[in-house]
Amino acid sequence: MINLYGIPLNKLEKLMLDENQSKFRAKQLFTWIYEKEETDFDNMSDISKSFREVLKEKYCLIKPSIYLKQVASDGTIKLLLEMEDGSKVETVLMRYNYGNVVCVTSQVGCNMGCSFCASGLLKKQRNLEVYEMVGQILVMNDLLKEENQRVTHVVVMGTGEPFDNYDNVIDFVRIINDQKALAIGARHITVSTCGIPDKIIQYGKEGLQVNLAISLHAPNNELRSKIMPINRAYPLEVLIPAIAEYIESANRRVTYEYIMLKDVNDSLEHAKELLELIRPTYAYVNLIPYNPVDEHGYQRAESTKVKAFMDYCIKHGVNTTIRKEFGTDIDAACGQLRAKQEGLLK
Ligand code: SAH
Repeated sequence: MINLYGIPLNKLEKLMLDENQSKFRAKQLFTWIYEKEETDFDNMSDISKSFREVLKEKYCLIKPSIYLKQVASDGTIKLLLEMEDGSKVETVLMRYNYGNVVCVTSQVGCNMGCSFCASGLLKKQRNLEVYEMVGQILVMNDLLKEENQRVTHVVVMGTGEPFDNYDNVIDFVRIINDQKALAIGARHITVSTCGIPDKIIQYGKEGLQVNLAISLHAPNNELRSKIMPINRAYPLEVLIPAIAEYIESANRRVTYEYIMLKDVNDSLEHAKELLELIRPTYAYVNLIPYNPVDEHGYQRAESTKVKAFMDYCIKHGVNTTIRKEFGTDIDAACGQLRAKQEGLLK
């Protein structure tokens, strides 16, 4: 069975031609699926009865099911979603004053092995299918409907490395961005990568006006290779030019994410080195308060140090912010809910 939630309009049009239907069928289906939110092919009244039978035989519209739900006092919702094969993935909804942001998971587990991250405690089992990523937004939209709201922003910052599942992530972005589907503006969508140069360059050529965030976390190879093994494969002298090339072709700024780890990367010398490193690229810096993962032994940097780091960057002309924290009274930190469920965290 082909899950229609995973097919962007251009591919659905081709599929309809293969089914000896007109291209227009694809638009009709999109209207039923996303605008009218119909899940029963029998109710799609302007589609011929005979083709509805074909749809029922070969296609489905199945969303992930909610295995566990946590709601924090600030309204953050964390879901552990169960896929058809029993795989469980985390999805988080955060309520910023500018909108409802969903943090989407792109893989079951992760192989990048970042030394501070809870997600990597579970190795990658498989890539998520496009419909499993779209499904994360649909389930959150269903929950928000009770409040007459919907998902307005998406960050692909959940478990997994999106550029290790590139084609599916791009199709996912096309579907949620499609005016006829979930209509989330391109500038409201951000994909975050640990830094895979050829995919960063490719991403710049997709013609999408979507944002890119780079998990940098360290200003030199020695430190970055220590905390992020991916840096051994793609060191900074390869990564930074790839980002510059992305900026050139996409004509977009990037955001560098930088987790502030106590006594590891939080000094003003690090800030100075960071600014020198990123100078060839047009960028923002987002400082991230670390969510401690006991098993890894890192601690969060002191807030005075974070503030001093930020002030230094701003003083030297780089737009820098500190990431707002959500859901601190639930297991909202990166990958913690699933890891706990699987008995890998206390
Ligand atoms: N693989 C992608 C996307 C997933 S991680 C990437 O590396 O960007 C999303 C962001 O959360 C990354 O910047 C990651 O480094 C950060 N992160 C991971 N564990 C964290 C933790 N315990 N506390 C704060 N941020 C964390």
